[in-house]
Amino acid sequence: CAAAALVVRHRIKSSRKWARALSILTEFEEKCGTPSSKLKQVADAMTVEMHAGLASEGGSKLKMIISYVDNLPTGDEKGLFYALDLGGTNFRVLRVHLGGKESRVVKQEFEEVSIPPHLMTGSSDELFDYIASALAKFVATESDNQHVSPGRQRELGFTFSFPVRQTSISSGTLIKWTKGFSVEDTVGQDVVGELTKAIERAGLDMRVAALVNDTVGTLAGGRYNNPDVVAAVILGTGTNAAYVERAHAIPKWHGLLPKSGEMVINMEWGNFRSSHLPLTEYDQALDAGSLNPGEQIFEKMISGMYLGEIVRRVLCKMAEEAAIFGDTVPPKLKIPFILRTPHTSAMHHDTSPDLKVVATKLKDILEISNTSLKLRKLIVEVCDIVATRGARLSAAGIVGILKKLGRDTVKDGENQKSVVALDGGLYEHYTKFRTCMENTLWELLGEEASENIAVEHSMDGSGIGAALLAASHSQYIEVEEP
Ligand code: BGC
Ligand code: MG
Repeated sequence: CAAAALVVRHRIKSSRKWARALSILTEFEEKCGTPSSKLKQVADAMTVEMHAGLASEGGSKLKMIISYVDNLPTGDEKGLFYALDLGGTNFRVLRVHLGGKESRVVKQEFEEVSIPPHLMTGSSDELFDYIASALAKFVATESDNQHVSPGRQRELGFTFSFPVRQTSISSGTLIKWTKGFSVEDTVGQDVVGELTKAIERAGLDMRVAALVNDTVGTLAGGRYNNPDVVAAVILGTGTNAAYVERAHAIPKWHGLLPKSGEMVINMEWGNFRSSHLPLTEYDQALDAGSLNPGEQIFEKMISGMYLGEIVRRVLCKMAEEAAIFGDTVPPKLKIPFILRTPHTSAMHHDTSPDLKVVATKLKDILEISNTSLKLRKLIVEVCDIVATRGARLSAAGIVGILKKLGRDTVKDGENQKSVVALDGGLYEHYTKFRTCMENTLWELLGEEASENIAVEHSMDGSGIGAALLAASHSQYIEVEEP
């Protein structure tokens, strides 16, 4: 009888705990809610901030950086160019042979190199030396027919995916690091200067012809393949967008009006912030504990660096307050960033009836075993809430850009096409995220407008894009006589 009472008490206790877990889940889900009405407010706020950021330097959380790219690729670009793409834990070096209108990209080779974690928080010289030496090694693999013509210097497009105050097409100072980088002595320096010095130290003869953000590179690469591309969005480790603005609509631009009448703007939308954003206690705690507190709030709700970490924080709370993993919190679960977005994506996509993938991930990454199916389902729910919010917010951001461009509605008798080029690991590999983002776009734009708008995966566009912009800003281009 005593034993039976113990069992009953245990059941009551565990059902109470389960109820607590469910209430944490429900509350989280409510706080993360993104109904259309709210997303429309987010899109409107994005448009408003875009105007403010274009009006004056420092006028908004959105930096709306003038990229000095006033012409996008036409297809005429010719020659052998290099590109270097630095933006996450890997960087890539590329060699691209451009053949002009007829033959386009004749040949493209690349190599990917991972950045040792200690260099992400070390000194500027060390970081750039490492990059330059990888670049030198790659250049050494040039075959005989790949040399640039005699007397010419090799030229490079440098994709640097951090906020940079551009001072020309081929120079710009680092405003701040994002995405886990923290090399303090680079901040405020001209990153092309830093790279050029390292290139010289490596004994390489090469000139940086263009410095671009990955969004600007992706826009250039996207436009090369499709003339209707008007904006580019990166959904990867970090997130950001660039688009083509009318030069007239940039009050803070005091330079000459470009011939094209256009200017590409790097929005740095990762730093967007608005009272309409569905922020939770978990986001606030994540931000407070991050390398850049108070910054990149939109990015921290959307991008690949953070989604897994938000899930971890919710599970941690459930472990602490509802003992979902037993009487103690599993020690691994307490380690920040141990749960990466690829892991939560794998769990989210688990279609096996007993959620085997979830069980394996919990075991391999968090050393948690013996979970019930009910609990594994709860964990998938958490992944779903986090990914859905991120995907829907990114769609709202895109709608904000289309609004700014006046392309979010169908004008009488017009059927002007607008294409948004997308890239980044989150977009590429997290299917449920991508599908949700795209569906949300159509939901917000409505059927009629949706017909004229498309999103396109611009694979590795940022590298090719940088090479294309290096080509169009080559020092060997013959300038037309006025
Ligand atoms: C950076 C942007 C970049 C984006 C995507 C953000 O953290 O601030 O410059 O475009 O990540 O890589
Ligand atoms: Mg990238």
